[in-house]
Parts: sequence; C-alpha cells; structure tokens
Amino acid sequence: MFSFKNVGELLFVQGKSFENVSYGFSSRIGGISAPPWNTLNLAMKTDDSSSNIGENWSRYMAALNLEAVPVFFGKQTHGTKIRQITSTTKDRSHEFDCLKFYDNDRFICAGECDALWTDEPGIAVSVFTADCLPIIVVGSGSHPFVAAIHGGWRGLVSKIIHRTLSTIASTIPFSPEDVTLIVGPHIRNCCFEVSSDVAETLDQNCSGSIKPNKDYVGKYLADLGMMVGDDGADFGIPAGQIYICELCTCCNEEHFYSYRRTRTADRGSMSSVISIV
Ligand SMILES: [Zn+2]
Repeated sequence: MFSFKNVGELLFVQGKSFENVSYGFSSRIGGISAPPWNTLNLAMKTDDSSSNIGENWSRYMAALNLEAVPVFFGKQTHGTKIRQITSTTKDRSHEFDCLKFYDNDRFICAGECDALWTDEPGIAVSVFTADCLPIIVVGSGSHPFVAAIHGGWRGLVSKIIHRTLSTIASTIPFSPEDVTLIVGPHIRNCCFEVSSDVAETLDQNCSGSIKPNKDYVGKYLADLGMMVGDDGADFGIPAGQIYICELCTCCNEEHFYSYRRTRTADRGSMSSVISIV
C-alpha cells in the first residue's frame, strides 16, 4: 500500500490516495543540505542553513503540488495539545526558539501542539519526525477535514489520536467510519528498544505491543504502530481504514533521518504534510 514516489530526484512516501487531499511523508532524498543534514532536511531548529532548509521545503511542497499553500506546524513537546488551524491562525505571540527559518507568509508556527487539524482547503498542516510516528488523518464524510499528529510513545500512551478526533468531533460532525489513519515511516519494533519501566507502561496501555529483546536481557522491543491501531479502534475507526507503514526509519539510513540511530540533534528531520485541495 505504501510506496516511494519520485518527483525529479526528490523521494517521498505515500499510501492510499484520496480525492481532494494531497499528502506525503518526506524522506531524506532530493534536497540540498550538506552532512550531517543531508539532504532533504526540513527541520527548522538545526544549524543547517536557512536557505538550504527553505529550498528543501520549496522542492517538497512542489512535489506534493502544494507550491502556493501555507504550511502550519507546531512546537512539538510530546504533549497532547491540539490546534485547529484556519486561514486566520497567526500565532506569533510566543518566542519560538526553534525558528531560525521563518517565512511569515508561508511557514507558520501554530504554537505549542503535537496535533494540528483543519477543515479549510488550501491550508497544509504538518508534523516533524525522525523516528516518532507521523500520523495523517483524513476525514472524508460530508464535512471533510485533515489532521497531522506527532506520535511518540508518550503521546500514544496519552491517547493523542482519540483526543484529537474527540476535539474535532466537538467542532464538526463526522462518523468514525469516515476516518482513515495513515502512519508514515517510523521506528519499528526491529529497532525501538525500551527499558523495563517503559515496556511496562506500554504493555499496560496496549497489551502485546512489547516483546523481550532476546539479544539483551532486561530490554524490550516496542511496536508503537500497534498502539495506533488500538487507539484508532477505540474511537471506532474500522481496522481496514488504519494503515501502518512498514518502513523503519532507524534501520533505513539511506532514506530516513533517525534520532535513535544518530543519537544527536545534529541531523535532519522529515516532515509529514497534508492539505485539502
Ligand atoms: Zn528498524
């Protein structure tokens, strides 16, 4: 279901396609940034040059046919703040230390949040990841909406998907049967090793999501995609409308940035973008 798409040299991942929705999960291929950010770095808080980051963003948005669309993103904190984005959202009151590269008309920070949603066409919402789960939501009922959710293990334990959908449901009517969840490339259970205390928390939250790491006594491997499935099902989304990408960011160095693999902030980030068109 998921596949790499090429536009020129630029590579991104897509899954199921939808009418009137454009989205993508970026890779690290097809940008201009030099090591250690090579090459399609979209993160705005690195020491990479702002002109490189701007060019990378322009290429990526063009590849998604969203050249003229403003992109909203949040200051991600592994929390559960959720923001509705409209054409008048201009939250620039805070000092946002991450923002070296900041084009007021095109790249707009919506303040602290780990989930952003909109029901307006021509607005892109996005999340940054480099191992965490980028979760794209498509609501395709009579009142369409889209959302982008940053899902780390803390956010998933806090049921951020359920919280986001409940928040949207308090504003616009929709049925869980109209919702599709698409989880892009993230650290999979081949690589996401956790200690026993985190494993216990995850297992209590989602039974079966962890297994012992047979190579390291006392360590466990966690399947965060399974937690998305549980959280989505808990909201009532049909299992056949929850898609989990099998590509692992950590063991696929050629294609993806990974915090776990590099263990440093001196690396790039991917961005997952979605817009009603
Ligand atoms: Zn892996």
